[in-house]
Formats: sequence, structure tokens, C-alpha cells
Amino acid sequence: MIVAKFGGSSLADAAQFQKVRNIIFADSRRTFIVPSAPGRRFDEDEKVTDLLYRCHTEQAEGKAFQKTFEEIRKRYDDIANGLKLSIELELYFDEIYHKIAMGASADYCASRGEFLNGLLLANYLEFEFLDASEVIFFDEQGIFDSEKTNDVLGKRLEKLENAVIPGFYGSNPDGSIRAFSRGGSDITGAIVARAAKAELYENWTDVSGFLMADPRIVTNPCQISHITYHEMHELCSAGATVLHEDCVFPVSRAGIPTNIRNTNLPEHPGTMITCTAVKRGDFAIFAGVSGKKGLSLLLVEKAQTDRSWAFVQGVLQAAKKCGLTFQYLPSGINCVCLLVETKKYHRVQDFFAEEIKKLNISHSLTIQPEIAGIVLVGYGIAHNRLTVNRIYEALRRQNIGVVMINQGSGELSTWVGVAENEMEAAIRVIYKEFA
Ligand code: ASP
Repeated sequence: MIVAKFGGSSLADAAQFQKVRNIIFADSRRTFIVPSAPGRRFDEDEKVTDLLYRCHTEQAEGKAFQKTFEEIRKRYDDIANGLKLSIELELYFDEIYHKIAMGASADYCASRGEFLNGLLLANYLEFEFLDASEVIFFDEQGIFDSEKTNDVLGKRLEKLENAVIPGFYGSNPDGSIRAFSRGGSDITGAIVARAAKAELYENWTDVSGFLMADPRIVTNPCQISHITYHEMHELCSAGATVLHEDCVFPVSRAGIPTNIRNTNLPEHPGTMITCTAVKRGDFAIFAGVSGKKGLSLLLVEKAQTDRSWAFVQGVLQAAKKCGLTFQYLPSGINCVCLLVETKKYHRVQDFFAEEIKKLNISHSLTIQPEIAGIVLVGYGIAHNRLTVNRIYEALRRQNIGVVMINQGSGELSTWVGVAENEMEAAIRVIYKEFA
């Protein structure tokens, strides 16, 4: 059984709804469907979620929100009329209008985008409609309650042959609506897949999966056909914007693969994300490369060279105390080197220096700013002893200096630090060398 989530652009108008219907009925395993709210139909178009947030702001500021509300109504009417649906949305709109006028929360307002789209899609598919507020729960602190949700949702799904469950929201303990952060329908999809014990979580969007490099940097990069959750996480940690970690957690921990697919090109197999590299042959030696600017190399070196590792421990503890997270840690016993976000470091720099002083170990603290961290990801990369040589050699040919390099401390990535203004060139060189 497959859980399929469709993003906003996949459900932006009646024509897109038809594509979605064809996809769902092309495979009888696609039984539980999670829709987003209607997204952009063209470049300057507005997402329904943005319009809903605007209604809320206008109401809160004492401005008229009717015009914005009518725009939203028109989006749904156009879809319903275009598909000749039997559902009447009038009463739902009256209720939503009334609640917004009475000062409903921003979360409630935003969630109606998915709620209404779910009603339309369920009607169109002749599937059951299961309101997410009945099965997705947050706790008193507003944190997603994964176990209660899994339990209640799992039991409800067991009784259903098929269903449409709107994405992006759930309910607080008092029954009020709470929304996930933007893009949260991806999370709902993964939550439903876990609760349904699905064999596969399909995430249908408007691209055919992930690319091996940012297309704004590398012209026409190849598609990633297979990648593991781990590899994807590494790519994201250095700036690639693929799927948010929260989104994949429910499925990755349940061992369910995720398939990113393109609603506008359904015959394309997309990118398959799996827990382990099961079919080794499918996994490229090199999965991808990404890079992130705005980093600094923070070097804390002790004057005395001895074999005590109390210094390393102390520096890391100081970083933890200041909330200074690091991107990478290429260190030795006498010198701790932290690749940190420059902005974050500036916020805690005095506090950090004070904490280090308290160690009472004579040391120097230097910072090298304007560094970009580039990560090459792929199981094959880290296992290949020539990787570092190849990176050095390729970058040297283009006169790009390496500030730092560290091969495969985990088993799947190699980090390279270069000057910020050389990041794009370095990514192009590395991509060309390995792809
Ligand atoms: N509609 C929401 C948003 O625009 C949630 C989503 O699409 O996943 O952020």
C-alpha cells in the first residue's frame, strides 16, 4: 500500500486535479492521499495559504479581508466547477468567514487551505475524507505528539479502504487547530505513511526528484536516482534544500522508502530515498555535492602540547554551553577546529571566549571568516582512498585553494572548505570530477 502526498502546484487548478486523479488510479496501491492547498498556477500567482495568512493579518489589523477571501473562494469554485464536482462548499465558506471575522488564529486560517482542498479531492476521487484535526495531535507545549497520533491514526486507517487526509495541520489538546511550519504537508504525508505501515511514501511535486548539484551553479546536473536518508541528510546539512529532516523522520525510522515524483511527468521514476543502500549497483559512487556560505573556521589551540584531552572536552563543552553548534569538527588533541556559522558565532563570541578562559589552559583563539563548506556525498566517495587527491588536484588546476579537507569521518561524506567567493567554481570543478 502506498501513501501519496501531492504538493500545492500538483493541485493548483482543475487540470492539475485531473493529472492527480490519473496518477492515483494508475496504481491501486495508492490508497491514502495527502493534499496540500492549491499552489501557484503561474509565476506571479499567489498560493492559497499565503492568501489565508493575509486574511488573518488584515482582520487582525482591523482592515477589510473580504477581497482576499473572495479570491480564495474563487480558486476553489474554479476547481469545483472545472471538474463538475457535486460538493457544495458554500456552508464551509460561511463558517470559515465567520471564524476569521471573530478573530480565529493564524493556524486555523492557514489550515483551511488544505481542509478545503481535501474536501474537493475526496469528492473527486470518491474517497473517504478524514479530517487531520481528528487524527494528528500536538501536546500542551505545541510539540507534535507522534505516538498518540500514530496510535489513533493507525487505528482509523485500518478501518478505511481509502481516504484523503489534508496535510499541514492537526489539533491541540483543547481541540483548536495547530499548523506545522510552512511546507508541513510533507510531514503529514510521512506521518500517515508510518501510521498506515505503507510500503512506500510517494511525494508528488513539480520536479522529477533531486539533482546532484544546484542547477543555479552547475548547468544541467544529473538527476539522483537513488539516495539513502543518511546521504540526503548530509547534502542538506551543507545547504541543499531537498526534503526537510522533520519530514522524513517518521518514514526513515519506520524503514519506509520515499519516492519523489513529478506530477507533470508521471512516467519519470524520480528519486528513491531508502534507509540503506540495498541494491548496491543502483547507488552511485557519488550521490551529489552541495555547499554553504557564511561559515568561519574557529581555531582554538593550546600552547602546551601534551596528551591530555581535557582541553578538547572543555572547548566542546564551552561551545555547547553557548549554544554554538558546528557544521564540522576537524580537530586534534591540541587544537580544536570548529566550522561554524559566522552569524551564530558573532552572537556568542564573548561568552564563548569567557568560557574558554575558565579552563585555565593557555591557548590562542583565531577565526578565519568567509569560508564556504562544500560536502561531497556518496558511500563510494568516502571509501575511495584517492578522493582527497582528486579533489586537491582538480581544485589546484583551477587555482582554487583548499582551506580545510576531511575525508569520510562518517562513512559517506567528504568536507572541503574553500574561500566563500570560490564556492561556485569549486562546486563546478568537483561535480565535473566526480559526476
Ligand atoms: N500549504 C502549506 C504551505 O504553503 C503547507 C504545504 O504546502 O505543505 O506552506
